[in-house]
Amino acid sequence: MIYLDYQSTTPLDPRIYVEMKPYFEQWHGNPHAVIHSEGFRAKRAVDQARQKIAAALGVMEREIIFTSGATESNNLAILGLEEHLIKCRKTHLITQVTEHPCVLECFRRLEKNGFEVTFLSVDKGGRVDPGELQQCLRESTGLVSIMAVNNEIGVIQPLSEVAKVLKDKNILFHCDAAQAMGRIPIQLQKMGIDLLSISGHKIYGPKGIGALYINQKIQKHINPIIYGGGQESGLRAGTLPTPLCVGLGEAVRLANNEQKQDHTHISSLRDLFLSELSQANLHYTINGSRDQRIPGNLNLSFRGVSNEDLIAGLSDLCISSGSACATEKTEHSHVIQALRVKPDVLKGAVRISFGRFTTEEEIKKAASIIFNTIRSMY
Ligand SMILES: *Cc1c(COP(=O)(O)O)cnc(C)c1O
Repeated sequence: MIYLDYQSTTPLDPRIYVEMKPYFEQWHGNPHAVIHSEGFRAKRAVDQARQKIAAALGVMEREIIFTSGATESNNLAILGLEEHLIKCRKTHLITQVTEHPCVLECFRRLEKNGFEVTFLSVDKGGRVDPGELQQCLRESTGLVSIMAVNNEIGVIQPLSEVAKVLKDKNILFHCDAAQAMGRIPIQLQKMGIDLLSISGHKIYGPKGIGALYINQKIQKHINPIIYGGGQESGLRAGTLPTPLCVGLGEAVRLANNEQKQDHTHISSLRDLFLSELSQANLHYTINGSRDQRIPGNLNLSFRGVSNEDLIAGLSDLCISSGSACATEKTEHSHVIQALRVKPDVLKGAVRISFGRFTTEEEIKKAASIIFNTIRSMY
């Protein structure tokens, strides 16, 4: 089985698992029960993980809140600001159409609660236009949420340009960086990002853990969405899962340290894959910007081939149509639709994504499986 669905979730890096293991097998303390040494050991592990994340992002430890994943981080960032935004009469919000469903649904919730939301469109490459953003700003705009890297087409949004538009405007800037961590440099200060979401299982870490960076200046403006024992500075109640926190810390550290070598490895795999397809004389289009994308994503439409038929025909290869969250529905990807492509391109879009552990051999085999499958369809 060849796994080329890294944007849905990445395999766990064995080096990360090694760090986590003792906290499954040996050390059972509750990181909030620091009354005894077992609890203290767990607390130390969680603190260390938080340090690693803060160091990689260049922020303070108390600006990092552990969550169950990027879905929860996005919910906390956006819904957690509701009361503050209402108080400040900042009831206009801006996001864009190709965001992950968990961001879009939060904004739809706020719309129902009386907010006005502008959903920016994207160009044919899948990117927002900072000029259009500028035009949409109002006196009452309180929050802008733009993702760093798209999960379906791998396209990188122009965050620095967005930051320039928002500079000194008293508008909060949230960024879903679940797919960006370890893939592109993220400069929080330079980009004026106030809130940033990350996820463990997109960066070779465990599932069920993520984090939200919240600039300390605005922490007091966020309400929790989960109430309880006041953990995580009162912003996210619940006992922290020590092994998962440890895993996220190490995943972020490795993602940061190995970004360059991952990039080199993955770029050469992409070039190899595309050259294999060309040699096989397959006609395809790449969905989304060709140059403003991470190398580990190829969202392709093969001429005259629907993604359903293609994926059903692949037996030893895992690739996907759309995002994991949308595959159980029969409707087409909202992301590809936003690119205003022709109907057959929309129907054909498949996401092939690979990463740190993908080998040249797997790439060659995958290309030949796709080629043979498409040929057998005619
Ligand atoms: C995977 C993903 C999420 C959701 O993250 P979970 O940790 O699975 O909740 C959110 N946004 C983007 C861009 C993602 O790729």
